[in-house]
Amino acid sequence: MKATQQSFTCKCGTLRGHVTAHGIKSGTRAECFCADCRAAILYLGQPDPAPGPVDIFQLAPDAIEITQGADQLRLMRLGPKGLLRWYAGCCNTPFANTLAKPSLPFAGLHSNLFENKDALGKIRARGFVPQPGKPAKTTGAAVMALGIISRMATCRMSGRWKQTPFFDVETGQPVAKADIPTKKERAALY
Ligand SMILES: [Zn+2]
Ligand SMILES: [Zn+2]
Repeated sequence: MKATQQSFTCKCGTLRGHVTAHGIKSGTRAECFCADCRAAILYLGQPDPAPGPVDIFQLAPDAIEITQGADQLRLMRLGPKGLLRWYAGCCNTPFANTLAKPSLPFAGLHSNLFENKDALGKIRARGFVPQPGKPAKTTGAAVMALGIISRMATCRMSGRWKQTPFFDVETGQPVAKADIPTKKERAALY
């Protein structure tokens, strides 16, 4: 199947854009069952994904083009060193996860933002899948890591890591200030 550009939107339609065809082709769709992904969704007052996973499309940030409502990008972290978890401030729709610096070009967009989730491809990796009586299991970790490493290398070599909706590349700072829940708020999310 030939990859084509895919549109995304937050629930209320204020924040909109698309992922380029190349971004769709080189991205990896993954599911995550971890407690942090769930906590971040609960923090935003969104429906509880449990016991199901959070569906994420991993890609290079330069493949994300926000065409409307970029000023709605808001940021939270579960702790001072946590992943950057982006959401649409207009309606609290979870948007993306990124690493803390633009020079580590990685984004995981929430698949629910896409009208056509099937166009993102099959689930290639599953993180922290609960196993009865055993520790949680991750499958497809190698596929996922390879995707992340090769996209990062391409972004770095081409200079395209500087094209990111999430950071001011001059200062290296995220475009929004992160909210971090207090210990008490955090405890209520797990
Ligand atoms: Zn919205
Ligand atoms: Zn997770």
